[in-house]
Amino acid sequence: MFDKFHDECAVMGIFGHPEAANMVYLGLYALQHRGQESSGIVSSDGKALISHRQMGLVADIFKEDVIKRLEGSSAIGHNRYSTSGQSHLKNAQPFVVEYAQGPIAISHNGNLVNAGMLRDELEAYGSIFQSTSDTEVIIHLIATSKEATLMGRIVEALSRVRGAYSLLFLTLDRMIAARDPMGFRPLVLGKFKVGRNRNGYVVASESCALDLIEAEYLREVEPGEIITFGPKGMESLKPFPPVPHAKCIFEYIYFSRPDSNLYGRNVYQVRKELGRQLARENPVQADLVTPVPDSGVPAAIGYSEQSGLPLEFGLIRNHYVGRTFIEPQQSIRHFGVKIKLNAQREVLKGKRVVVVDDSIVRGTTSRKIIRMLRDAGAKEVHMRISSPPTISPCYYGIDTPTRSELIASSSSVEEIRKFIEADSLGYISREGMYGFLDGRTDGFCDACFSGNYPVHFDDEGHTRQLHLFEATQQR
Ligand code: AMP
Repeated sequence: MFDKFHDECAVMGIFGHPEAANMVYLGLYALQHRGQESSGIVSSDGKALISHRQMGLVADIFKEDVIKRLEGSSAIGHNRYSTSGQSHLKNAQPFVVEYAQGPIAISHNGNLVNAGMLRDELEAYGSIFQSTSDTEVIIHLIATSKEATLMGRIVEALSRVRGAYSLLFLTLDRMIAARDPMGFRPLVLGKFKVGRNRNGYVVASESCALDLIEAEYLREVEPGEIITFGPKGMESLKPFPPVPHAKCIFEYIYFSRPDSNLYGRNVYQVRKELGRQLARENPVQADLVTPVPDSGVPAAIGYSEQSGLPLEFGLIRNHYVGRTFIEPQQSIRHFGVKIKLNAQREVLKGKRVVVVDDSIVRGTTSRKIIRMLRDAGAKEVHMRISSPPTISPCYYGIDTPTRSELIASSSSVEEIRKFIEADSLGYISREGMYGFLDGRTDGFCDACFSGNYPVHFDDEGHTRQLHLFEATQQR
């Protein structure tokens, strides 16, 4: 059985570059925000797959000697993050296995919702699992498939899994990218020139990874699309019947980097627009707007522009904060937040402050931030949130705590306001959030804000598909 479900991850792959592993390393570096627990790269030199996986940050793992060893013109990589105790090297990706036709590696972003059921079935037929990650199920389904070709095996395996996957596979001579039919997690495609007249290809979780390696953005890998990069160039396949899309809205709100282009829009511009809408819906008499850095910055700029209130940095972030701290025995008030953020008395003293963040999860950070702002002299603190209340956990790849830990799952806005000790609290509305899409809500997954799950996940880790999903599959 799997012991965790909420992986946040990045994938990155290069096909047709003499320094493929080096390019993947740079891409993973640009995608570090999507996972900080472990990282790995697998390259192909045409004769073998070469792998390096390690716990830690990209820049600490891939030193010159490691990159040198990862020879070949194609490579895939992965960053992984998990909050629970199952953080272990055995769960670090890419996974590599041998099957009847040779070695294959896999990198996965997203969560499968029927992995438990499939794993039980595979184990009953003799598959031996090496990790507790749901991704390994895909590899075993490929290895045990009776289909003759690799593509046949991949299509068969993917037709059995449900939920979120943005995938990269690597074999000796091919790289394959696949995105689930609902398109939960992002995946983008780009190309670059090698020498005078040869093209190489890159596939990555976000477009900011393409910018760093100076690749040209082509398009998204489409939901339900499988792209093969091989000796014959690039081939696209759409083997599954189309279903309604469910692209993650939270990528826009918090998770993606603001300099990425996602689902056809620049994330920074979207967040600024959310801030403007937040100001329209929740105006307040105040002296200044201040963001919770970094997550609240673009929305605070939007709020400031719309409201006419000046933008000030009342909170300054330390960008070098690691995972663990040695806490002094004499307790320091709000230690956990203070180590990351410092409130500026010069800016805040005597002021009525609007503080903008992208979301409230448990409410504990907001509460500490508000106390810090008051300690630094703020006269009033008005909290504004550029997403609707987070009421439901994510089962498709965003790390959220259980429902009972989500403050908005059981508390009203007024109760949350009291808990975080704000003078006022305002969230953007769900309709307002979709304003930047001209009000169109179709094509997105907003289960975290609405509780509407496009694919259901039950408590035992086995799935019951929503009738809607089943019906559209059969169409
Ligand atoms: P909390 O104290 O639990 O309410 O935390 C709220 C803060 O967590 C906000 O500043 C958010 O930007 C941030 N946040 C929201 N979602 C996530 C996530 N999935 N992983 C890490 N931080 C998050």
